[in-house]
Amino acid sequence: MYKNKVYKKIKSLLGKRCLNDKLSKVQYSYDATQKMYSPDIVALVENTNEVSEILKIANKYKVPIVPRGWGSGFSGGALNIEGGICLSLEKMDKIVEFDKDNLMVWVEAGLVNYDLQEFLKPYGLFFPPDPSSWKFSTIGGNIAENAGGPRAVKYGVTKNWVNGLEIVLADGTVLNVGSKNIKDVAGYNITDLIIGSEGTLAVVTKALLRVHPISDDKKTIQIVFNGIRAAAEMVNNILNSKIIPTSIEFVDKDAIKTVDDALNVGFPKDAEAILIIEIDGGIYEVEENSKKIKRLCEKDKSIIAFRVAKNEKEADEIWIARRSISPTLKRIADGKLNEDIVVPRSKLPDMIEKTQEIAKKHNLYIVSFGHAGDGNIHTNIMYHTDNNKEIEAAKKAMDEIFSFCLKLGGSITGEHGVGITKQDYLEKQVGSDNIKLFKNIKKAFDPKNILNPHKMRL
Ligand SMILES: Cc1cc2nc3c(=O)[nH]c(=O)nc-3n(C[C@H](O)[C@H](O)[C@H](O)COP(=O)(O)OP(=O)(O)OC[C@H]3O[C@@H](n4cnc5c(N)ncnc54)[C@H](O)[C@@H]3O)c2cc1C
Repeated sequence: MYKNKVYKKIKSLLGKRCLNDKLSKVQYSYDATQKMYSPDIVALVENTNEVSEILKIANKYKVPIVPRGWGSGFSGGALNIEGGICLSLEKMDKIVEFDKDNLMVWVEAGLVNYDLQEFLKPYGLFFPPDPSSWKFSTIGGNIAENAGGPRAVKYGVTKNWVNGLEIVLADGTVLNVGSKNIKDVAGYNITDLIIGSEGTLAVVTKALLRVHPISDDKKTIQIVFNGIRAAAEMVNNILNSKIIPTSIEFVDKDAIKTVDDALNVGFPKDAEAILIIEIDGGIYEVEENSKKIKRLCEKDKSIIAFRVAKNEKEADEIWIARRSISPTLKRIADGKLNEDIVVPRSKLPDMIEKTQEIAKKHNLYIVSFGHAGDGNIHTNIMYHTDNNKEIEAAKKAMDEIFSFCLKLGGSITGEHGVGITKQDYLEKQVGSDNIKLFKNIKKAFDPKNILNPHKMRL
């Protein structure tokens, strides 16, 4: 009953941009988790006023409403678990204002990260957060998940580059939070509260982002190790030698083999781990830091290959191998539990070794790679979807990995968010008092619990 009323109201507001045909509902029913939950209606909004009007309707009729960017999320955040409205911001993709003097830009939330980078490039500027999904994820989605990428070692994650937001609350109220001021401590910091809130507190319609000058020079270095612990330890050795690289990425043996089989990269056969390091800065600084890293590596007997990319083409080859890991994993098995645990950087060698131990114990492939410079590792537990024994083993392995990670003082998620996939572990990490506070915050923002309910189990 309510569905028809809500559909009619939204249809009269959006016309052809309100969809409820079968095909559209399927198109908007999944994200990168490959789980499927169909919305009842898809609303393709074009401006803040439409977002506000639709939220007023959803709030009045108590209909679940799920904000959505490009649906590249890895934790099910954009899925309509119990139907309701899929609020797609993909058409809100404009640059609203470029303030070169203040090195800031106002953008609509549906702008794709890569399109912002392309806009900034001619001005010699960039937006530092660079999730590997930058070509198919939106600024709104990056903000909702507090996304990070390889550059986070030096430049931090999304929250470090957002100065203000335009948001719409569950009852349709439009609010501006934050400002262009670099320093601003007037009142609670709502901007930071919204960042990482996974679309459960408000819909982000616009964002005021800080941007940064592109460095004069950069170098990409690839180091191949015949021991996995040595690679993990090298991460800390580099950071302790007063060098802050832009990126330090880690690739384990199984990931190396899978990529090599698929792309024929020619990695040494006895390679157990690879570090990919990028350094940027002034020309002199980059040259010096590159030499420093080389000197550090010369002392390490477990290094079997060291390569500094001579030009952009060679650097691209190194990065393509890293970026191809995720898509080539299907060659190992058709199912995977894709986790993004984080540990304090000094604990990285212990975490990586323990993961290998757990893989052996359960006779599974567990492929580890990712942002070692942040202590953030993508742990992919592979299984065959037609093998129940393997599925059970994978779940047990995941439990053990999370438990060990929390024991080391780590976190169950560094960038993918809790969504629906990590709900069972959130309280284990933060404790019941924090959960109580989370629920009260949610109630204050969204008393009828219409905004992305079922996520984080709030
Ligand atoms: C191959 C691949 C690589 C990836 N690599 C990375 C990586 O390196 N780093 C990283 O951090 N993530 C990575 N991700 C995960 C994902 O791309 C990010 O979480 C991204 O920020 C999601 O953006 P999206 O626009 O696709 O959001 P969606 O998937 O559409 O939504 C994600 C969440 O954000 C909420 N949301 C979306 N837009 C808004 C809005 N305007 N207002 C309020 N809430 C909103 C949704 O409700 C949902 O909870 C990767 C994903 C894939 C598939």
